[in-house]
Amino acid sequence: MGTCEKILSFRHCAETGCTEAADFRAPVLKRADGEIDYGVFCKIHARARNGQWNYFADMNADEIEDFRHQSYSWHKSTVENLSKTALHAVLHSTDFLDDNVLFSASGIKTQKRVIPPEIKQALEQMQLEDVPDEASLKARFRLLVKRYHPDVQPENPHNLARLQSINSAYKTLKEYLCREIV
Ligand SMILES: [Zn+2]
Repeated sequence: MGTCEKILSFRHCAETGCTEAADFRAPVLKRADGEIDYGVFCKIHARARNGQWNYFADMNADEIEDFRHQSYSWHKSTVENLSKTALHAVLHSTDFLDDNVLFSASGIKTQKRVIPPEIKQALEQMQLEDVPDEASLKARFRLLVKRYHPDVQPENPHNLARLQSINSAYKTLKEYLCREIV
């Protein structure tokens, strides 16, 4: 085998900027017709690609590109060390979704938050349909206190009990929000 053949058979890893030899096949994207495009990567990048693959399976090419573009700086330095769990966390993190209308608008499966029953009840008591942010929760609390305060409608005996349940619902939701943020 001559030198030329050796050089020709050497392939760089398809990951941008990587100069390692490419010996491993990994899926790159799923085309609209369901066919999967493969690239050839070094061991590390092939492993990273395979790790990501499940999470990209439902996305179209543009969405994958957007994801890759948006997470580029993060991706480039740390993707080798990322576990599936970590990638999953990034993909489903609220901050990420908030910044990317694309993801939530395009029917990409996002993990829907499971709301515990006591929180649902508290939401009902505060006449809220969904978990609010802290500011909206505070505003709603003020509004309800104003509405049901005994000084406002002294003739309605139910208001005091109502106010008490609003009070405890507010406390419950506030604690829940704090837990969610941490
Ligand atoms: Zn590589």
